Amino acid sequence: MEYRRLGNSGLQVSVFSFGSWITFGNQIGNSTAEELMIYAYDQGINFFDNAEIYANGESEKVMGKILRKLNWQRSSYIVSSKAYFGDGGQLPNQKGLSRKHLFEACNAALRRLQVEYLDLFFCHRPDKSTPMEETVWAMNHLIQQGKILYWGTSEWSGVELMEAHMVAKANNLIGPVMEQPQYNMFHREKVEVEYKKIYSTVGLGTTIWSPLASGILTDKYIGKFPDNTRLGLDELNWLKERSLNESKLAKVKKLNSLAKELGVTLPQLALKWCAINPNVSTVILGASKVKQLKENIATLEVLPSLSSEVLERIETILDNKPVHPMW
Ligand code: NDP
Repeated sequence: MEYRRLGNSGLQVSVFSFGSWITFGNQIGNSTAEELMIYAYDQGINFFDNAEIYANGESEKVMGKILRKLNWQRSSYIVSSKAYFGDGGQLPNQKGLSRKHLFEACNAALRRLQVEYLDLFFCHRPDKSTPMEETVWAMNHLIQQGKILYWGTSEWSGVELMEAHMVAKANNLIGPVMEQPQYNMFHREKVEVEYKKIYSTVGLGTTIWSPLASGILTDKYIGKFPDNTRLGLDELNWLKERSLNESKLAKVKKLNSLAKELGVTLPQLALKWCAINPNVSTVILGASKVKQLKENIATLEVLPSLSSEVLERIETILDNKPVHPMW
C-alpha cells in the first residue's frame, strides 16, 4: 500500500481508503461490513470514512461495534465523520454548520463510533446561513478539546474554502486541511480546475468520493439491468435517473474494451485513473461485497502505471476534459 500526506499536514493516509455510504447499516449485513473492514485493514488501508447522515447514524454504530470488537491499535487507523445533514432529526439546529450542531454531531459520532477522538471531521456541505467565523472557530474549539485532529470540507467551492482559510489566518486558527469532492472519469471540474491553485496556496489534501461513479464504471450496467446493486435500490432512484444515461454507457463500453485490452477490469482502470492524479490524497473505495474490494485493491498490483498513450486514449473516449477559463 502506498501512503500519501493529507495536503500539507503530517498525516499519512493510504492511497485507497474505505467508506460506508449506502452499504453499512443499510444495503449489507453487519458480518459483511466486518469482513470488508478486516480485508481493507489487512491490505494496508488505514482510513475509514463515515458520516452522521449515513443510514441516519446507523453506519457509524456498525463501524463503531466493529472497531471495538477488532480492537486495532488506535494509532494504526484514521476514522472520520461528517456533519451538516443531521442524523434524521428535522428540528431547527439538528443540521447545518452552527457551533451547536457541530458540537452535538461530533459528540454523537464519538459515541456511535466508540472512539475518543475523530481523526478527520468534515463539514459535509457549505452552510450559507451560518457565518464562516462560527464554523471555523467551532472546528478549532473541537481540536483544542481533543475531540478532532483535523477538519475539512466536502463539496465546498474554491471561494468558500479560501474564505475559511482567510478567517483562520486572521484569527490564528487552523484552516481546513482536506476537502472531500466527488472525482471520477465522469466528474472532474472541481478537482482538476476549481481547486488547482489551492493545492499549492494552502496545501489542500483531497479524499475523493465515488471513484466508480456509484458502480457505473464497471461492466454491470452495460447489459441487462442487474439485480442487487446500488442503482436498483428504490431510495436511490434519483441517483439512477441523474447518473445513468446512454451517452455515459456508450463511453463505459469503450472504456471496458480498453481495460480488457490492458488485461485488467474497468473498475481497476477507473480507480488507477483517479489515483494517478497527484492532488488526490486518497481514493475512498466503496464495496457491497468482499470480492469487489479484493478486485479494487488489487489495482495497485495489476496496474502499477498508466502510459501516456493509454491516458490519451481515455481522454479521447471521455471527451470531457475540463479546461481553465482563459482571458
Ligand atoms: P464508488 O463510486 O466506488 O461506488 C461503490 C459501489 O460500486 C459499491 O458499493 C458497489 O455497489 C459497486 N462496486 C464497487 N466495486 C465494484 C466492482 N469491482 N465491481 C462491481 N461493482 C463494484 O464509491 P462510493 O459511491 O461508495 O463512494 C465511496 C465513499 O465515498 C463512500 O462510502 C463514502 O465514504 C464517501 N462518499 C462521500 C460523499 C460526500 O458527499 N462526501 C458522497 C458519497 C460517498 P453495488 O454492489 O451495490 O453495485
